[in-house]
Formats: sequence, C-alpha cells, structure tokens
Amino acid sequence: MAISIHPAVDHGVKSGSANFAGGTLTCKCASSPVTVSLKANVAYDHVCGCTKCWKPQGALFSLVAVIPREKLSVTANESKLKVVDPKAPIQRYACTGCGAHLYGRIESKDHPFYGFDFVHPELLKEKGWAAPEFAAFVSSIIEAGFPPARMGEVRARLNELKLEPYDCLSPALMDAIATHTAKRKGVLAA
Ligand SMILES: [Zn+2]
Ligand SMILES: [Zn+2]
Repeated sequence: MAISIHPAVDHGVKSGSANFAGGTLTCKCASSPVTVSLKANVAYDHVCGCTKCWKPQGALFSLVAVIPREKLSVTANESKLKVVDPKAPIQRYACTGCGAHLYGRIESKDHPFYGFDFVHPELLKEKGWAAPEFAAFVSSIIEAGFPPARMGEVRARLNELKLEPYDCLSPALMDAIATHTAKRKGVLAA
C-alpha cells in the first residue's frame, strides 16, 4: 500500500483551474463554522512536513499555500478563532471548536514573507485552486514520530506524485528569503 501523504494528493495531484479567483475556507464544525473569504487564487501551494502546520487526522503532511493578506477576510464566527502560539513568527488562527487552522498571519514587517497569509486550500468549498507543486520540510515528519528508516518510501512516493521533496522550502522560496536578508544587510541593491 502506498504511503499516505495527504488526502488531497493521495489519489494523484489534481491540476488547478487557470481562472480560479478565490472562494470560502470553512472549518470542520458541524454548526456555526468559521468562514474565511479569499478574493484571489492561492500561490506556492505545497505539502509541508513541519510540526506547526495543521494536518488532517492521520496525514503525514499538511497542504498549505499563500495569499496576499489584503485578499483574506474572516466572514463568520471570528470569535471562535484563537492564535495557537502568540510567540511564533506566524500567528496561526485555529478554530477552538474543531481545531482546524483557518489562516496564519505574519505581523513582523521584517519577515521575508510579510504580506502573505498561509492557508490550507483543502478547506475551500470550491474546487480549482492552484495545485500543490512541491513538498517542503520533508525530514521534519521524523520530529512528529515518523520512523527515519522509512523516509526513502516517503520521498519515493512524493517523487511519484511529482511533488519534489525538499528538506527546507523550494529553491524559489529559499532564494526569496536569502534575497530579503541580503537587501537588509545592504550587500544587494534594494
Ligand atoms: Zn471549527
Ligand atoms: Zn509547515
């Protein structure tokens, strides 16, 4: 049996629709769910093995993407949201009813990803959001208890799904972080 990465990709990665323009994230509560409106498609969609991202029950990876913060607004039951860890660089707003994370926000203007919110596209009611492109923080699943000896199977499955495995972020995102740092240090023109 193939290793389960995440329910949204286990049966093959679905391609996104070029004209997808947003939708509504809805938490898992049966009554009074939190809803969040996205006024654009998501970008840099990927599966993530870190221990901070919200994952559905039994999944090894989360599914996470970004959207400009001005394109995101909470539209119902905002009072159920609570920040998981107020000290973390990303403030992850989770539903106190079901535990789902609705969005993660960066408040420090010095952070390389300031201006982008993190969302889990599987919570969108609408289909057609940008397809996941890679796998980030793959080795970190060991920190959640996954046996190190089976990492070969995980990376093979990710390659099979064309989700190239990286042990940090993808080269494009690592370059963006380093560029931000270099400009701040003044070794690159801003
Ligand atoms: Zn909920
Ligand atoms: Zn993560």
